[in-house]
Amino acid sequence: MSGWITKLKENIPEKQILTDTADRFSYSFDASFGEYLPEAVVQVKNKEETVHVLKTANQYMVPVTPRGQSTSLSGGPLPVKGGIVLDMSQWPETIDVFADDLIAIVSPSVLTADINKTVEPHGLMYPPDPSSAHVCTIGGNLAENSGGPRGLKYGVTKDYVIGLEVVTPEGEIMKTGGRTIKNVTGFDLTKLIIGSEGTLGVITEATVKLVPKPPAVQTLMAVFDDVELAGEATSKTLTSGILPSKMEFVDQECIKAVENYNPIGLPVEAAAILIIELDGHPEAIQMETEQVQKIMEELEASATQIPETEEEAAKIWQARKLVSPAIATIKPTKVSEDATVPRSKIGPMMGRLQAIKEKYNVDIVVFGHAGDGNLHPDVMCDKRDTEEMERVENAVAEIFEAAIDLGGTLSGEHGIGTMKSAFMEQELGPVGVDMMKRIKAAWDPSNILNPGKIFPEKGQTKLVLRDE
Ligand SMILES: Cc1cc2nc3c(=O)[nH]c(=O)nc-3n(C[C@H](O)[C@H](O)[C@H](O)COP(=O)(O)OP(=O)(O)OC[C@H]3O[C@@H](n4cnc5c(N)ncnc54)[C@H](O)[C@@H]3O)c2cc1C
Repeated sequence: MSGWITKLKENIPEKQILTDTADRFSYSFDASFGEYLPEAVVQVKNKEETVHVLKTANQYMVPVTPRGQSTSLSGGPLPVKGGIVLDMSQWPETIDVFADDLIAIVSPSVLTADINKTVEPHGLMYPPDPSSAHVCTIGGNLAENSGGPRGLKYGVTKDYVIGLEVVTPEGEIMKTGGRTIKNVTGFDLTKLIIGSEGTLGVITEATVKLVPKPPAVQTLMAVFDDVELAGEATSKTLTSGILPSKMEFVDQECIKAVENYNPIGLPVEAAAILIIELDGHPEAIQMETEQVQKIMEELEASATQIPETEEEAAKIWQARKLVSPAIATIKPTKVSEDATVPRSKIGPMMGRLQAIKEKYNVDIVVFGHAGDGNLHPDVMCDKRDTEEMERVENAVAEIFEAAIDLGGTLSGEHGIGTMKSAFMEQELGPVGVDMMKRIKAAWDPSNILNPGKIFPEKGQTKLVLRDE
């Protein structure tokens, strides 16, 4: 047995340290690509155990990869250098609400959707709402700076975190920020940790900001025969003085997939639909709904639908939620991308995606958060077909290029992980990437925490989607 496993057992119950092949195997995947077997899995349940893992790992030079529920779409929790997977999902869930301060203090294993369930009875809301909210952890959300449909009006995870407790890569406990909305004491280390994909620290507690729950919401669905008009309708709404809370785009392939998967009466002949939600005072949203409906009709929406009951609205949003599982039935492999463009460039990005689809003869379906320019062009393929995968790799590289050309970014919410690291310099330039590497080296001198992520490996120039 490795000396470091014996050392781990000194302060962590043996049943929390998994070394059997079968146990380790279930920790070798996430929701993206690749399969990497860790040497051990440690299911930590408190910060003292986390400290012990990191101190031991530094002593024996063993890589440590934090893991929440492993729903990452970019390879973040994959133990690409072996070593230890630090499973945070067995940590006891705690959500302490301080309604007078409009904050909640949460443990890292809390499922994101549970925060809202807990704060709603207080008339409060935690706005970030990734579509995976019922299965992913707040720890994972913080590490990826996750977003969701409500990002349009309310922003993303980083906008709702004011304090963190973190175990550093060398195994020290650190607090950042605090309980106050205003705090400018020193560097903003809270923001540095958020989105660092588990490479700068293990998050063991977070103080999140809450907002009053809007008194009313109204959903509206608009049907388009032309994808670019749907893009224009989005831009026109956003410049009309109205800020919807959600504005989601679903293309024809996705509509058909949802109807095949779980028929709910979506218009399968439509080129695209927009699903919009307005929230606020009931009288205000009634006026805004009429205005948005008018904009949709001016942009030649072939139909608009305003649900009259909560059940009808829930059915429309259920359709949006079903897109991911439904398109997974088109082909066995799904390459989920989240390249994001400025809102005014949604129409041109749609055009570029169509051209890429034709050039490489690949199956691209598009859905996503149109209101904030964060589209999800997903390439449906079969990873066993090497010739097809080569075309897919080239198509995805061109999707990244298109997004950057249009003033956008490689990733709006899924993170870089292993999937997009080869393209970092294209967006940030060599100085930007070098500065990030220097920060990582200062925080984690032995490169213990989640190595092999964000930065390209030596000589890595392209996306690799095949398990090589
Ligand atoms: C169907 C589906 C829909 C999705 N929809 C969205 C969406 O709408 N918006 C969105 O942003 N994402 C979405 N995702 C991606 C994914 O759910 C998010 O990235 C989520 O934040 C990952 O959480 P997790 O608990 O699964 O973390 P994991 O996947 O286990 O880990 C993600 C990253 O966080 C790190 N990490 C985990 N816990 C900690 C911790 N406590 N401290 C430090 N680092 C840690 C890991 O090392 C890894 O780098 C979706 C995924 C799926 C499969």
